Amino acid sequence: MAAQRVSILLVYTGGTIGMVENPETGALEPFDFNYLQDNVPELRLLGCDISSVEFSPPLDSSAITTEHWVQLARVIEEHYEDYDGFVILHGTDTMAYTASAMSFVFEGLSKPIVFTGSQLPVGKLRTDGKENLITAIEIAAARDEAGRPRVPEVTLFFENYLMRGNRSSKVSADQFSAFESYNYPHLAYAGIEIRYHDAVIAKAPQGRTLAVHPHFDPNVAVLKLFPGITRGVVESILSLPTLRGVVLETFGSGNAPMLPWFLDALRSTVARGVVIVNVTQCVTGYVDMMRYETGILLQKIGVVSGRDATTEAVLTKLMYLLGQGFSSEEVGQLMAIPLRGEMSLDQEMEGFSRETSIYRR
Ligand code: ASP
Repeated sequence: MAAQRVSILLVYTGGTIGMVENPETGALEPFDFNYLQDNVPELRLLGCDISSVEFSPPLDSSAITTEHWVQLARVIEEHYEDYDGFVILHGTDTMAYTASAMSFVFEGLSKPIVFTGSQLPVGKLRTDGKENLITAIEIAAARDEAGRPRVPEVTLFFENYLMRGNRSSKVSADQFSAFESYNYPHLAYAGIEIRYHDAVIAKAPQGRTLAVHPHFDPNVAVLKLFPGITRGVVESILSLPTLRGVVLETFGSGNAPMLPWFLDALRSTVARGVVIVNVTQCVTGYVDMMRYETGILLQKIGVVSGRDATTEAVLTKLMYLLGQGFSSEEVGQLMAIPLRGEMSLDQEMEGFSRETSIYRR
């Protein structure tokens, strides 16, 4: 009996991959999704059944809002039982945010959701779009010896590397190698063959059904510290009446100025029930609030450590948790623990920095 063909749903949200150059202005404009399929006839050779849905109109990803995340989550939820895997085509600019957001929405995921996009439209001669798309589909369709999905989590594939979605960041505006996952090993490397690093890929939960939580509270802010930041800037952000969560981007291992007005502003914000999470501005390493006096002070105030998570992951996790109706205290507690592999536990952090260098390039 012939093995059943794997079925994949392609969701085109927009982005460069499906754009075309306006001959008059030279600007890139969204085009009909068929343009993408016509330009990648190889899709027919992949040996899986591919269907597609598209956002109408397609979005430049700089225009993505939490409402679009809900829309995307609903599309996947609606088709979850009908397909073996999902490939989401998304503009690169905010792809790491959307991939992070989707990782929180889908609890108990047992099928692959692979995000990809490109730096050049598929119609361009030197495009990276074709390879990214074809490999993302291959990954979404990959099965293990027992016929189970090889990568049952939300991931992002870009130029040779598969990353956990909520560990990735866009790191280059013009290189084909535009994404990186600095604090977690790559999940797979696609060279002449695709090598999966099974030990770091999430396992599908046994006996658990999927729960979808497509609710986000956008009343959050990112406050990036810099030397000389003024009281006015800090206070105007922290005193926003609707504010419920803050990603505080600090220096090094989680350090901030020890100025009384700054600490007072944080203290009164936490006292109002706003959850503040400490994330480092460094691209590798983690927040350790026990290392310096300033970290200890922040901890005493009630600032939560984001450990080695990215700003994208912490911001979307805050929006997600606040959107579920948890109290500030509950959100604070849940921010401190990994929910979908978005941050490492103490014992993992050392190991990962070693492993990441083994798996990288
Ligand atoms: N501005 C585009 C977007 O994010 C860039 C891209 O797709 O690479 O939608």
